[in-house]
Amino acid sequence: MDACPNCQSTTFTKAGIIKERQRYRCKKCNYFFTVGKLGKQIDHYYVNKALQLYLEGLTYREIERILGVSHVSVMNWVKKYGIKRPYSSQYHPTYKILSQQELREYFNVAGNIKGAGVLVTELGDKFMLIKWERFKE
Ligand SMILES: [Zn+2]
Repeated sequence: MDACPNCQSTTFTKAGIIKERQRYRCKKCNYFFTVGKLGKQIDHYYVNKALQLYLEGLTYREIERILGVSHVSVMNWVKKYGIKRPYSSQYHPTYKILSQQELREYFNVAGNIKGAGVLVTELGDKFMLIKWERFKE
């Protein structure tokens, strides 16, 4: 529980219990929300991340391992949103999960970012770095 789903404000007060779930009222926009609603928003975060990783060429199993959501869910989302990725055997993505500090150290080494594209995406409290290596043998 860290922000109002409506305006992202972090000032809210408890406003009763509804169906055994704590209800909150945002002090800024007066929006009422429950823990359940916020949970749904978190799900959306993972849908977006999963589809993003899928487009980057990762397999369902890899996405499952990284995000902790079942590969069946990921397959369903890909189907639901009609995501298609072009087939390519010339690029092979490799990835690392890094903290902000580790990310900084990684970028300090010129050899790490030369000769390949690097994409960084937020992943919970860490960052995921995807590196594209072309014509990898
Ligand atoms: Zn609000």
